[in-house]
Amino acid sequence: MKLFEIAFWVVIVAEMIIRAPLNKKRKLEKMKQSQITGQEWKLLILLLLGGFILPLIYSLTNWLDFANYSLPTWAGWLGVILAIGAVIVFWKSHADLGLNWSPSLEIREKHELITRGIYGIIRHPMYLSQWILAIAQPLLLQNWIAGFTNLLAFIPFYFLRVQAEEKMMLESFGDEYRDYMNKTGSVLPKGK
Ligand code: SAH
Repeated sequence: MKLFEIAFWVVIVAEMIIRAPLNKKRKLEKMKQSQITGQEWKLLILLLLGGFILPLIYSLTNWLDFANYSLPTWAGWLGVILAIGAVIVFWKSHADLGLNWSPSLEIREKHELITRGIYGIIRHPMYLSQWILAIAQPLLLQNWIAGFTNLLAFIPFYFLRVQAEEKMMLESFGDEYRDYMNKTGSVLPKGK
């Protein structure tokens, strides 16, 4: 395995470790609302394929080798820097969102609108970390299939998810969320 490929897997394992305790705790939470559409399921499966299964096939077999390409070393290092950035943003958003996190769109009985920490700057830091990792992936896994499928799946997922999530948050929190939207950007800080 090449160095940049190892960096990719270190990031995936780090994110699993960051998420594991929340995943365990949230199973005890009572949910008030939970929604997931058929379309979102399909995109989630594509994300799993692009973010995990195809990289695994790329790393463990030579089946995808026909689609390899080779970038200059600096591009791999750029991928490493982006991936480290992605993990930091991923960690900080989990620390700030706590038990309000959910893999699909959910509102728990004790849901709290978080507007502090990284959520005081942008509304979707977890999705920002996914953007950064999806952009780093073709630099770390230099293969047209293992490198790009995640990004291709994430682009439609992001726009559909954010639209549905913000609609749900507005229904649950009303003016409080409207006010929060006026103060923050979605994945980049709001310009003055
Ligand atoms: N979009 C956010 C959160 C992703 S997790 C991010 O990218 O960081 C998805 C869940 O987070 C949703 O089901 C919603 O209930 C919850 N959520 C999103 N924004 C929130 C906020 N500001 N405060 C509390 N919960 C939030």
